[in-house]
Amino acid sequence: MSNVNQFKCPACGGALEYRPGQKAMVCPYCGTTVEEESILQEAVQGQPETAAVQEQAPVSEEATQEKPEGEELRSYHCQNCGAEIVTGPTTAATRCYYCHSPVVLNPRLSDAFRPDGVIPFQMELQEAKNRFQAFIAKKRFVRKDFVSPQQLEDFSGVYYPYWMDDVTMEASFDGEATTVSSIQRGAVTETHTRHYQLHREGTLQVNRLQRKALNQTSRLLSDGIQPFQMEGMRPFASEYLSGFLAESRDVTLAEAQADMEKEAQGMVYGAMTHVGDAFHSVKGNAQVHKMVSRMRYVLFPVWVLTYRGQGKESFYYMMNGQTGQVCGKLPLDTGKLGLFSAICGLAVAGLLCLGGAMLW
Ligand SMILES: [Zn+2]
Ligand SMILES: [Zn+2]
Repeated sequence: MSNVNQFKCPACGGALEYRPGQKAMVCPYCGTTVEEESILQEAVQGQPETAAVQEQAPVSEEATQEKPEGEELRSYHCQNCGAEIVTGPTTAATRCYYCHSPVVLNPRLSDAFRPDGVIPFQMELQEAKNRFQAFIAKKRFVRKDFVSPQQLEDFSGVYYPYWMDDVTMEASFDGEATTVSSIQRGAVTETHTRHYQLHREGTLQVNRLQRKALNQTSRLLSDGIQPFQMEGMRPFASEYLSGFLAESRDVTLAEAQADMEKEAQGMVYGAMTHVGDAFHSVKGNAQVHKMVSRMRYVLFPVWVLTYRGQGKESFYYMMNGQTGQVCGKLPLDTGKLGLFSAICGLAVAGLLCLGGAMLW
C-alpha cells in the first residue's frame, strides 16, 4: 500500500474530495461524483472481521505498535505535484501545501491505527463558516480580528480520534436492607424496623463510554460539543477524510480501556443498591466478577477555528461536525468587557463550555 491516498477523478484525474452536502466524493474540477454507497461497499469489504471487538485482555503493546511511530515529523510525497509534505506525529489527513490536493496518510490509519468507524461531516465548509459568523455576531465582547477574513481561512474540518467502549459486567451485591413502618395505638406510636439480608446478582451493561484518543485536544472543549449521534456512524473508509484534516490517536487502547472500565465500575454500587420503593435503606458491598470491554476506535467530525492572541494563549471555537453543537473559548475585547463588568459587577475570566452550554 502506498504511503499516501489521493483519490483520482475517473474522468479528469483531479483529486476527489468528500462533500458532505452531496454525500459523495466529488471532483472540484469537472464535477464527477462517486456515490457514498460505493465507498461504503469497499469499506465493509476492507474491514477486518475482528476489528470491532477487542475483548478483555488488552492486545499486547508490542504486537500492535500501540505507540505511534517514534519520529516527531514525517514526510510524504504528493502524488499530484511531487512536493514534499511534512506532517506532525499524529496527522492522518491533510492537504498538500503546494497544490492544495487532499492527502490521506495511510500509515497513520493502518493496522492498530485503523479506525473501526467514522461519523462523516454533515455540513459543507461554507455553511459551517456562516453558522460561526452568525454565532459570533451575537457575542458583544469578542475581538473583531477573531472573525477577520484572514482568520477565517484557518477554519477547518478536523476528524478527531476517540475511543468508545461498551462494558458488560457480571456483578453481585451482599448487604442489609430495612423497611420501616409505624402504627398508632392511642397515644403510642409503634415503629417497626425490619431487617433483611439482601443478595442481588446480575449482568450490567454500560454502553458507549467515550474518551478522546488524542492527548493534545482540550478535554473541556471536546466535551462541550458532545454528544455525537451514533446512528451516523459508518464503517471506516479513508475516502471520508479526503478534503478534511484528520488526527490519529496517541492514547493507547490499554490506557483508554482501563479508564473507561474504572468509570463503568464506579456505576455498579449505585445500580445494585437501586431497589426503588421496596426498602427504606440498603447498604453493603458490590463486587464485579467479570468484565468484558468492547473497544472501538472511531473518528468524529469537528469544525475548528484557532486564534493565537498577543500573549501565548490560544483560543478555540469548535462545532460538532454532525449536529452543529458549538463550544468555544473566545478572545475577549478587554476594553469592551471592562466597561461591561463595571456596569454589571460581573467577573468573566474566560468563556468555557460545560455540558455543551455556553456560559454567557
Ligand atoms: Zn474530474
Ligand atoms: Zn501537491
